[in-house]
Amino acid sequence: MSVVVATSLADAVAALAAQPHSTVLAGGTDVMVDLNAHHAQLEHVVLVNRVPELCTWRFADGWLEIGAGVTWAQVQRELSRWVPALAEAARTVGSPQIRHAATIGGNLGTCSPAGDGLPVLAALDAVVHLVSSAGERALPVGEFMVGPKRTALRAGELITRVVVPVTTGFQGYAKVGVRNAMVIAVASAALVVDEGTVRLALGSVGPTVLRCPQAEQFATDHLSTGMSDAEVARFAELARDAARPIDDHRATAAYRRHAVGVLAARLMQRAITRGRAS
Ligand SMILES: Cc1cc2nc3c(=O)[nH]c(=O)nc-3n(C[C@H](O)[C@H](O)[C@H](O)COP(=O)(O)OP(=O)(O)OC[C@H]3O[C@@H](n4cnc5c(N)ncnc54)[C@H](O)[C@@H]3O)c2cc1C
Repeated sequence: MSVVVATSLADAVAALAAQPHSTVLAGGTDVMVDLNAHHAQLEHVVLVNRVPELCTWRFADGWLEIGAGVTWAQVQRELSRWVPALAEAARTVGSPQIRHAATIGGNLGTCSPAGDGLPVLAALDAVVHLVSSAGERALPVGEFMVGPKRTALRAGELITRVVVPVTTGFQGYAKVGVRNAMVIAVASAALVVDEGTVRLALGSVGPTVLRCPQAEQFATDHLSTGMSDAEVARFAELARDAARPIDDHRATAAYRRHAVGVLAARLMQRAITRGRAS
């Protein structure tokens, strides 16, 4: 096994160009679980958690650029004023120990439908930036996530950062699991209200994170006049309709569908309450 400990972005890109099928290792909280379960075979490894360019974030001109190596602990501690929903999601990732190692880039790289950061990134219309020796490209997160644990990453490519707009309206994240802490989502939802436009993304209820165009349009049409309880219920129903859940060892499809409607309604109630207060 070869291991390259990259200390700059150029190092990491060069190592990946030399061995394009290397495993990129950031916090290792998914890779090591896979390895221990004997799913993964590590032949060539490029460690990226000492690459300074990946471990920083910056705010400029209404956009927040979050390096792929930024940990969930950093998101929780440092980014809540710009992306409160992402900070809410960060708070629910594993335990404090996991959050100090695990990165946003690793969440994207694994691309589990249950990844807590992903519904928020989808609802924020995030853009994922990638680099390889062939150059740079950027993909909307909805195109980056192509299926369960499948991404648009090409061999030899590295996620460098994810860019999100900083919005001023309500944003929130909610999750249901089999217990309250250290739990993989059985259903999750992220809601963003951005200049009167509503965006809703669902996790753990489909092969990958799902946006809900009909629920979004309905809420966009009704939110400005304040939504009645019946309209919130209709919004939740449209969210449930957008879900494509399956039965598995954590929950039945029927429970997931029900749960995601409850989460969507709760988030919308929070958005309405905040709208009344502001
Ligand atoms: C006990 C435990 C609890 C957990 N709880 C949660 C939870 O509640 N919610 C949740 O969402 N997740 C949870 N996870 C999963 C995991 O912590 C997250 O998915 C985390 O964000 C992964 O980040 P990482 O840096 O550790 O990724 P790694 O394990 O280092 O990498 C994960 C994948 O991403 C790729 N990758 C990493 N960085 C890059 C990059 N810059 N460019 C290209 N590819 C890259 C790797 O090659 C690999 O395929 C948990 C894991 C454990 C062990």
